[in-house]
Amino acid sequence: MKIKQNILLKDYTTFKIGGPADYFCLARSQEDVQTAIDFAKEKNLEILVLGGGSNLLISDTGFRGLAIKLDLQKLESHDNEVIVGAGVILAYLLNKSLARGLTGLEFAAGIPGTVGGAIRGNAGTYGLAMSDVVKEITYFDENYQIKVCQGDKCHFAYRHSIFKEIKAIIIEAKLKLAKGDLRVAQKLVAERLKYRQDTQPTEPSAGCIFKNVEFKTVDIEDLKKRGLETEQFAKHQKIPTAYIIEKAGLKGHTIGGVKVSEKHANYIINTDQATAEQVVMLISFIKQQIRDKYGIQLQEEVQFIG
Ligand SMILES: Cc1cc2nc3c(=O)[nH]c(=O)nc-3n(C[C@H](O)[C@H](O)[C@H](O)COP(=O)(O)OP(=O)(O)OC[C@H]3O[C@@H](n4cnc5c(N)ncnc54)[C@H](O)[C@@H]3O)c2cc1C
Repeated sequence: MKIKQNILLKDYTTFKIGGPADYFCLARSQEDVQTAIDFAKEKNLEILVLGGGSNLLISDTGFRGLAIKLDLQKLESHDNEVIVGAGVILAYLLNKSLARGLTGLEFAAGIPGTVGGAIRGNAGTYGLAMSDVVKEITYFDENYQIKVCQGDKCHFAYRHSIFKEIKAIIIEAKLKLAKGDLRVAQKLVAERLKYRQDTQPTEPSAGCIFKNVEFKTVDIEDLKKRGLETEQFAKHQKIPTAYIIEKAGLKGHTIGGVKVSEKHANYIINTDQATAEQVVMLISFIKQQIRDKYGIQLQEEVQFIG
């Protein structure tokens, strides 16, 4: 495995933003990851794990350390179980699972990125997430020892897992799927992809910038007084942040090459050679506006690097 120097990270993110990493490698096996770890230890370098780069905002000055792009492509199935490498693209996993008669990942239709990134952030939609299918995870822990964590011990919560609490490198996961009705599953996937096409922007972005707002974290009566009706979201106990940003009149707000998407207000899109600095300025502006108007403190879903 080659360890290269001075590699531009914007090419490894869906936002198309980010400066260079001092060192960069493409790890195709657990042994490659071990070699990368040894290299980082020897040179006393920080490690950045890159999956699909679909939830990342990397600074314009880049990353002072070793970026490891995970390309672990294992994919095996035994009955209802699938063992999958952290570098496998979620959409590929969904398609392969359906082709093998396994359902349960339909919620992931249209979520970009890899299995490793999805597990770390407990990615999901429609009330389901990776935590609903993950049975076991193999990872390097913060001391770079290989460990196995059972799904119910991974501290999974809304866009959260134990892998956000410790510096871990997820290597592979065992998922529990089901032999469900394939026709129903395929129809659902097609509908969800179409819905995304209709409602989400196609310009470079990192998906939703902020987490949705959980009912338990806000005063619903106070929001009503401030003109923000939320009853329609009571079923899922979360207020979509896109709705809040839209109500605040921020759709289309632009700073330099970044803009609050007109199609989906929780997306910041890169319209013209945007910089990370511009994104950070727009995020700060949105947060301040929403705090002033509704007293809500928005939390970022996107991960900042550098
Ligand atoms: C158009 C669009 C739509 C989206 N829709 C959704 C959605 O519906 N639901 C949703 O939840 N998210 C959504 N996202 C966000 C994003 O796709 C998910 O968060 C995704 O799971 C990130 O995976 P990734 O491989 O791209 O991770 P990356 O962006 O590469 O990394 C994200 C974080 O995880 C870490 N990481 C990555 N791989 C590993 C690993 N193997 N071990 C340890 N750490 C790792 C990285 O270091 C980083 O901190 C969307 C994004 C876009 C661009």
